[in-house]
Amino acid sequence: MKQFILVYILCMVECVSTQAQEKSSFDIWVKGGMVLDGSGAPATRADVFIKGNHISFIGHLKRPFSAKDTLHASGKIVSPGFIDSHAHGLPFETPNFKNFTSMGVTTIALGQDGSSPNTSDVRKLIENMDTLQLGPNIALFIGHGTIRKLSGIGFKRDPSEDEIQKMCNLLAEGMSAGAFGMTTGLEYTPGRYANQNELDALAKVVGQYDGLIMSHMRTENNATMESDLAELFSQGKYANIQVSHMKVVYGEGKERAIEILTLLNQQRDESTFNVSADVYPYLASYTTIGILFPEYALAPNDYEIVRQNRRNDLLDYVRDKVNRRNGPEATLFGTKPYKGKSLKQVADEKGIPFEKVLVDHIGPTGASAAYFTMDRDLQYRFIQDPYVMISSDGSPTMHHPRGYGSFAKVIEEFVVRDSLITLPEAIRKMTSLPAEMIGIGDRGRLRKGYKADILIFNPNNVKANASFAEPHKLATGFDYVIINGKIDRGHGQVLKK
Ligand SMILES: [Zn+2]
Repeated sequence: MKQFILVYILCMVECVSTQAQEKSSFDIWVKGGMVLDGSGAPATRADVFIKGNHISFIGHLKRPFSAKDTLHASGKIVSPGFIDSHAHGLPFETPNFKNFTSMGVTTIALGQDGSSPNTSDVRKLIENMDTLQLGPNIALFIGHGTIRKLSGIGFKRDPSEDEIQKMCNLLAEGMSAGAFGMTTGLEYTPGRYANQNELDALAKVVGQYDGLIMSHMRTENNATMESDLAELFSQGKYANIQVSHMKVVYGEGKERAIEILTLLNQQRDESTFNVSADVYPYLASYTTIGILFPEYALAPNDYEIVRQNRRNDLLDYVRDKVNRRNGPEATLFGTKPYKGKSLKQVADEKGIPFEKVLVDHIGPTGASAAYFTMDRDLQYRFIQDPYVMISSDGSPTMHHPRGYGSFAKVIEEFVVRDSLITLPEAIRKMTSLPAEMIGIGDRGRLRKGYKADILIFNPNNVKANASFAEPHKLATGFDYVIINGKIDRGHGQVLKK
């Protein structure tokens, strides 16, 4: 009996001491900051304690404790790391993604606009994660165009039931490997050749995994915005949906924004699935010059043959399209050999009309460019909507400031300078809202047990230094960007749903 009591007492002592040790020793103590937890609630003064890769405690700790590192956050905001639901880039080539982490982004969603790594690359990415020294975390999506190519359908318009089933199987394979959903690029090839039946069949697969469909819609044009949305809402019967980089080319004014937001709200009310959109805070888009050309000039057709046979049609088409998109001054090349010049400048230098530059010297695959086609009132009204999140649509190499500046610009201009949105709301749009839509359960909020992706900053110091003239200047003002509990920005993980 005595022996039993002794063992019992020893155990008590040991258990209590381990417990006490667990409670009192941390890796990082973020001291005295104003905590914005990502929910949209106002900031409260609290300490944040990190142990390993997660948040161990938030509040004021009364009992004694020790911490290996102390980060003084007094007078500063402490928030979750930002989550970019629409990003581009190649993890094997630019794994540290400094452009993103410098603007506070700790997780990026890749595989956008219908184009993603194929399944073997996904596996390679997961296997090489530690040697790659990824900066931010990566959430992967399966590209609709990619599985269309992998299944052998390619540019075909009406795939058979068997072929659609092949795509569904590839998608299911990707989803069960940990992808968060599917993306479409319906303005590009081969995505544009997909019909409703095919897209709905794939949506059902995404829905079975509780995933998300993010769509670069078919036109993004004012006149066809309603039918673009209707097409996506059809997939919204089966899965969560998000409009990628929502914009209305040729559209103008706050009222038009409200009309479109009303359609999204109705769909949200009627659907059992989630509905949202992301917007990047710039008024110029950036993509391949192919969007200025008619479908008959695109793959699988041979452009040179089209040019020989229908040159006058092509010249008429691109002239009209560019003029409707604010003219040749509003197209700014981002690729060699015309990088940094507008279409008008290039045409003037060559002494020929701009349509001939496009048709005879560049062609639909010969360049990428920024297009100044968006209306300020309309786009900024989108950004104020509670269901619209911030994305960058940027990459480390793209000749557009959005890949380096988006998230910093929202704080610098929309919150601090213009008071367009409050800081807690801006943070929510960049943290918990994207986390919930993408389906990342343990990030996007500051909460005990969540992964320690944390920013410490003074909003007045945040600057998006990139511009259209110098698009690759890193953002500044984030004193600490903690990723998975590590301060040096180099410990991102490939996330799995
Ligand atoms: Zn896109």
